[in-house]
Amino acid sequence: MSPAGAGRRPLISGNWKMNLDHLEAIHAARDLGLRLQPADVAPVDVSVHPPFTDIRSVQSVLEGEGIPVALGAQNCAVEDSGAFTGEVSPVMLAKLHVEYVIVGHSERRAHFAETDAVVASKLRAVLRNGMAPICCVGETVDERDIGLTQERLTAQVTAALTGLPAEDVAAMVVAYEPVWAIGTGQAATPEDAQEACAWIRGVVAQVAGEEPATQVRIQYGGSVKADNTASLMACTDVDGLLVGGASLDAAQFTDIVRAASRGGR
Ligand code: PEP
Repeated sequence: MSPAGAGRRPLISGNWKMNLDHLEAIHAARDLGLRLQPADVAPVDVSVHPPFTDIRSVQSVLEGEGIPVALGAQNCAVEDSGAFTGEVSPVMLAKLHVEYVIVGHSERRAHFAETDAVVASKLRAVLRNGMAPICCVGETVDERDIGLTQERLTAQVTAALTGLPAEDVAAMVVAYEPVWAIGTGQAATPEDAQEACAWIRGVVAQVAGEEPATQVRIQYGGSVKADNTASLMACTDVDGLLVGGASLDAAQFTDIVRAASRGGR
């Protein structure tokens, strides 16, 4: 439905999940900074999403050493402040110059009972604080097996985006992450990724309008490695990648960024 890329700048994001203490995170950020060359990041945006306890340390490394990588978080609270023991406020993240916050990752939906309604509230909390949400959607293997992929994507995208101003939708990121592909080594084929991402873009158009649907960036995530990056990035509606396991290794993540930046988008 949109011309190839349509001027959307790809975003390659590394989700470190619950890995790397703050000392290891400092090392990983420095390692990435030493490997990434200006040409690697000229055509793409890159973000890393460390655990909360690492964010301040990684911010210091990225800003102090001028590393062209945006800071991200993996989650945030719905509220800005208050009696919410154990939560981390989006205000606090914005203060640390976090630019992107993952919301609705399937691990949070599955292990922490995050419903579509909670995801929608978090998405708004991120936007309210001037950051860009990376809103994860995707079907389980059971849903896929009985042909419910499109229905599931429609429900998740509709619940997340309904009522948002067009400019907020245009500025955010949706990540198509089929649950069966996360951490399994079994990535979606480029054909399946393209079909799902095009479907998501169509749902965005219905919910928010054609203009934001053309502008919103849609990532693919699930067992991305350097050797499948180019074929996924060649898909018209894939505007970037959300990378889990392979982002923990600076060399592998650099290879992915490099392959994406050469992808002709
Ligand atoms: C993820 O955690 O979002 C993810 C896609 O993980 P992996 O790349 O390890 O499949």
